[in-house]
Amino acid sequence: MFKGILIEKDEAGYRTSLTDLDEGRLPDGDVTVRVSHSTLNYKDALAITGKGPVVRSFPMVPGIDLTGTVEHSTHPDYEVGDMMILNGWGVGETHWGGLAQKARLNGNWLVPLPGQFTPQQAMAIGTAGYTAMLCVLALERYGVKPEHGEILVTGAAGGVGSVATAVLTRLGFTVVAVSGRPAETEYLKSLGAVEMLDRATFATPGKPLGKERWAGAVDVVGSHTLANVCATTKYRGIVAACGLAGGMDLPATVAPFILRGVTLAGIDSVMCPRRERLEAWRRLGSDLDVSKLATISKEVGLTDVLPLASKLLNGEVRGRVVVDVNR
Ligand code: NDP
Repeated sequence: MFKGILIEKDEAGYRTSLTDLDEGRLPDGDVTVRVSHSTLNYKDALAITGKGPVVRSFPMVPGIDLTGTVEHSTHPDYEVGDMMILNGWGVGETHWGGLAQKARLNGNWLVPLPGQFTPQQAMAIGTAGYTAMLCVLALERYGVKPEHGEILVTGAAGGVGSVATAVLTRLGFTVVAVSGRPAETEYLKSLGAVEMLDRATFATPGKPLGKERWAGAVDVVGSHTLANVCATTKYRGIVAACGLAGGMDLPATVAPFILRGVTLAGIDSVMCPRRERLEAWRRLGSDLDVSKLATISKEVGLTDVLPLASKLLNGEVRGRVVVDVNR
């Protein structure tokens, strides 16, 4: 038996509990991992609370991230004792995930734990941080350089935003943070943001084109915020869009794209090919100041996860939540 969070949905309704699970219930897979840490992402909070249609088969163990040690493997690349990371691939949505002491997975989904990080640090990064790095890689792929000007990061005090701010700063970019939490100004400055803008100024309908300011942007909010970010991005600038914390709609015009050559780069971490994942984790190893992870993250136990999920959706959680599944 092992402990895990279980989401059930039946005639009795949608419910989530911390419970004892039998190893025989683990799904199919060629690698069994003894999980040490998982995380609480925005998507996990949607799954746990039932506020978003994340879980597509029941019962489900949530947790889109995990790290741990291989306990059993028939996969040619992995041996007992190897330390792994798992991000995405539908884990915690269609396949039992990381918010439990054990997981059985497809070995092709796994990434070796980079030597620069402890398991806790890897989860302090987690899907949010790896997605932030995918956004940075997109900006680079389209040729954005520090000398081109300021980079805007929205939802900056959240998980993706915090890591994006820290990595971009380390790479020499000038980062302007958008946040709804003035109390986090010092936190965002400690990560490297030079200025903080109130998210309310981006949240309402704006003009098709505004004053050009951003050489690039990382947006986790969507909706009017993303439309306004595109409208104020400089000629040939890049906007990496990865989130919907403010809404899934995009009430924009094509003006920024056809008159200023702005590129809207979509970022998906879930099905991202393995080669790009390995590159993102390699770059996190070289371009994220690990000393910042203690500020960005806090650690909780499995028992703390359920109450924290609602707080995270209310935007009351700063940075990243690491879950020690063994406490
Ligand atoms: P967090 O909850 O940690 O951060 C989201 C941040 O967005 C909040 O901290 C808040 O920042 C801001 N925010 C919240 N609600 C609103 C709102 N109504 N309007 C404007 N801003 C808001 O989540 P993550 O950083 O983990 O994820 C951010 C988004 O990215 C989510 O939508 C998530 O689903 C998505 N995501 C997508 C991935 C992909 O593969 N495409 C992977 C990972 C995440 P502040 O307090 O600073 O204003």
